[in-house]
Amino acid sequence: MTRKRASEVYTNSIAAPVYQSASYYFDDAAHVKAGLHERSAPAGRYGRYSNPTWVAVEELLSELTEAESSLLFSSGMAAHVTTFLAFLQAGDEVVLPAESYRQVRNVFHRILPKFGVVVHEISISDPRAFLDRLGELAERVKLVHLEMPSSPHMFLIDIKKVRAILGPDVLVTLDSSFSPPPNFYALRWGVDLVLFSATKYLSGHGDIVAGVVSGRADLVEQIRWYRDTTGPVVDGHTAALLQRSLYTLPLRMERVNSYGMEAACYLDAHPGVSRVYYTGLPSHQHYKLGMEYLAGHGGVVTFELGLNEADTAKVIDRLRLPFMASNFGAPQTLVEQSTFFTYFEYDDAGLQSIGVDRSTVRLALGYADDIVRIIEDLDRSLPGG
Ligand code: PLP
Repeated sequence: MTRKRASEVYTNSIAAPVYQSASYYFDDAAHVKAGLHERSAPAGRYGRYSNPTWVAVEELLSELTEAESSLLFSSGMAAHVTTFLAFLQAGDEVVLPAESYRQVRNVFHRILPKFGVVVHEISISDPRAFLDRLGELAERVKLVHLEMPSSPHMFLIDIKKVRAILGPDVLVTLDSSFSPPPNFYALRWGVDLVLFSATKYLSGHGDIVAGVVSGRADLVEQIRWYRDTTGPVVDGHTAALLQRSLYTLPLRMERVNSYGMEAACYLDAHPGVSRVYYTGLPSHQHYKLGMEYLAGHGGVVTFELGLNEADTAKVIDRLRLPFMASNFGAPQTLVEQSTFFTYFEYDDAGLQSIGVDRSTVRLALGYADDIVRIIEDLDRSLPGG
């Protein structure tokens, strides 16, 4: 077998090519010196450190999030864990919302304390109480991790006030998986690093698992070392799928923003629905924050039926169109009964601590579905419909 291929004939492909290589060769010692030691000539080294397809996607992500730099990961969780590993050490104190994504909470409660990190959890349901408690802890904390909107209640946080309470040395990270640009630009509001599960809206086709962190270049470089070392990376094909998806993100968000609003208004007026959580509705307790921070409210609508868990399950079972599945941002509409699905391992006290009622339903509208048909399906299935 020939040791080397002929060099590529051209490099002017509009879409970034898919690079699928575990390793990269050097021509001679001078090339190693320039490419590896001095970094004066761009050169690949090894597939865990870099891949030109990732780099192309990371540039797009930085443009999208208005960041200096971005890193791609093998999952949203990998992006979170690697970021926390990069900045936290024994004795550091951190704050996170009680309503954060379940597995992020697990990282804070079950993994980071093993390494001596002290965790403070505060509910964001009452924005004033959250800020008051944060103020009490402000002098002690190293990192504050936020998530907005939160699931399933779509709670928001007054980030400007959070930033004002905390000194400039406190790192603020924010999980924006539910509200990517153009709905929300976290870095405009004093957040240092924005994180995404790219599995959701960013990739938008329900066909990859990936994660992103974007922000200031010096911070991202610190995280890069941890990614290089621990290896939560994607392959070239996954990166290329994300690249393709990013071009349609604004179009998809426009569609799901209008679907979300339509479904939320329908559910809000339905006699069989006791409560709707959608930040575009004036009835949402954080509606004013939504008007300030969000340009669109997304395709996830949560509602309560005021029934017990078994009767709620019967309503979900009557639905014909949505897939019963736990994700959002996909082309298809997905539905889940929160306490029977995501939180099935939580007991009553656990559910109470995050304020999730047993009749909670989360509907994630798919941009490829017809909203009229989805509403007809809800109409047929909801009690009193
Ligand atoms: N953050 C939020 C808000 C999520 O909903 C999820 C996944 O459901 C994650 C992070 C984790 O992302 P991933 O599943 O890509 O690891």
